[in-house]
Amino acid sequence: MIREIIPGVYTADHAVAEGKNAIVVGQRSVWAIDAGTYAHEGQEMADFIRSLGRTPDRLLYTHGHGDHALGSGAFRDAVEIVAHELMPVECRRLLPLLAVRAGKTPEELAAQIAWPTITFSHELTLDLGDRRLRLFPTPGHSQDGVSVLLEEEKLLIAGDAVVTGIVPAIGDGDSRILQATLERLAKREIEILVPGHGAVVYGRENVQDWLGWLAGYLRDVRAAVRQALDAGTPSAEIVEGIEYDRFVGDRLPKDRHGMPKRHANTVRKIIEEKATLPPPSLPQVGGGADPVPSPNWGGLGWGGSIVEEESR
Ligand SMILES: [Zn+2]
Repeated sequence: MIREIIPGVYTADHAVAEGKNAIVVGQRSVWAIDAGTYAHEGQEMADFIRSLGRTPDRLLYTHGHGDHALGSGAFRDAVEIVAHELMPVECRRLLPLLAVRAGKTPEELAAQIAWPTITFSHELTLDLGDRRLRLFPTPGHSQDGVSVLLEEEKLLIAGDAVVTGIVPAIGDGDSRILQATLERLAKREIEILVPGHGAVVYGRENVQDWLGWLAGYLRDVRAAVRQALDAGTPSAEIVEGIEYDRFVGDRLPKDRHGMPKRHANTVRKIIEEKATLPPPSLPQVGGGADPVPSPNWGGLGWGGSIVEEESR
């Protein structure tokens, strides 16, 4: 389903965990933002753009996970396809895993994706004539994550850096980086928030509330993990002890999208992060707080759990 949330800005649902793609219409160009998992999801967006009397010839990615990129076939001939410079790297890295699930070869899967024609590493502004899209990195869920800000409209299309329908997914990322991203976003004036998965949030206070909860969830789980590790608790018991009801409670519906399992995966990932902290003799950031790793993701490893989870 495609819904207009403000004049000329639309969300397009996709099947994975209340997934949200978006479409932004400007005088000079129309941009599709992400394309879902399946060809028909991207096709629906392209058809919708045509129904407005416009051409579906521009696509941008918030990141390269399968449920945002695999459905992009309808945009393969687009004149501009924009993503963070790490998006093609990430997407190609995941292809063998995604191919197994799709029952295809990685080459077949690669051929159905609209690959970026323009990549960037810092920030990029797209001028649509009557409105501008500001793209900037929001890593943590994945290293190639970017969000899209419509500054005038105070509207953020966040990608999976912000989710309102599931707990933060960090299997392919880093909770400390994601928390820093969420805290940075919370300082911006955002009136409308389009998350990667979940319902759109309206009103600055509600947006602040969500961003604050997501960052706080990661912080609280990490604190509990640290305490349990310090007490010598085995990992399996830590996962049991960091209960869904206490850390998520009524914030998200327990019976949807395998939520308790998602929570347990996040706890497991944070235990893993604690186990890979630099030794205490290294200089620490922020007076003894958890050091935030530099954006060198080489050592983080890839467990495959997130894509497994996301594309179920
Ligand atoms: Zn993702």
